[in-house]
Amino acid sequence: MSTQNLLEIFIETNALLNGHFLLTSGRHSNQYFQCAKVLQHPQHNELICSRIAEHFKDHEIDFVISPAIGGIVVGQEVARQLKKQSIFAEREDKILALRRGFQIEEGKKYLVCEDVVTTGGSVFEVIDIVRANGGIIAGVGFIVDRSNNKVQFGVPQFSTLQLEVVSYQLDDCPLCKQNIPFVKPGSRKVNP
Ligand code: ZN
Repeated sequence: MSTQNLLEIFIETNALLNGHFLLTSGRHSNQYFQCAKVLQHPQHNELICSRIAEHFKDHEIDFVISPAIGGIVVGQEVARQLKKQSIFAEREDKILALRRGFQIEEGKKYLVCEDVVTTGGSVFEVIDIVRANGGIIAGVGFIVDRSNNKVQFGVPQFSTLQLEVVSYQLDDCPLCKQNIPFVKPGSRKVNP
């Protein structure tokens, strides 16, 4: 599957929207990306995750681990294809932690999976959890790199797609200057 095909799937499922958007950061952008829109289609998730599984198939991996929530569907599917078990860490008082009886096995190798990496914060937290409990990080696989390749985890890493984030302060937004109404994604309201 080529990068072009991948992009087409993101556009076709409205995961990638072009327009004029207010981002949660308060900045404006001409693009909005919501990975869950594509991953709600299990057949697309299977296809996209096959690139991650394919990339790591010759690496030594014992388990897959993901940060909740976005990473879970990715980790589960990659683990299914690699025929490994999949666990996840979730936020407890804003800190990622293992719950539900999940444990890190000492000396075992873990592939970290995530949907979108922007700052890599959640992935770094999961890496810390694994290492603090004696596990080894085999690599990090994720669907979309929004860091412009800036985030490096210091282990083998692979993303299926790089999507540059272009955003503007309100004063500098070229779309505002053209009086194009902006949309807050997730709501259907259009601002005047
Ligand atoms: Zn604007």
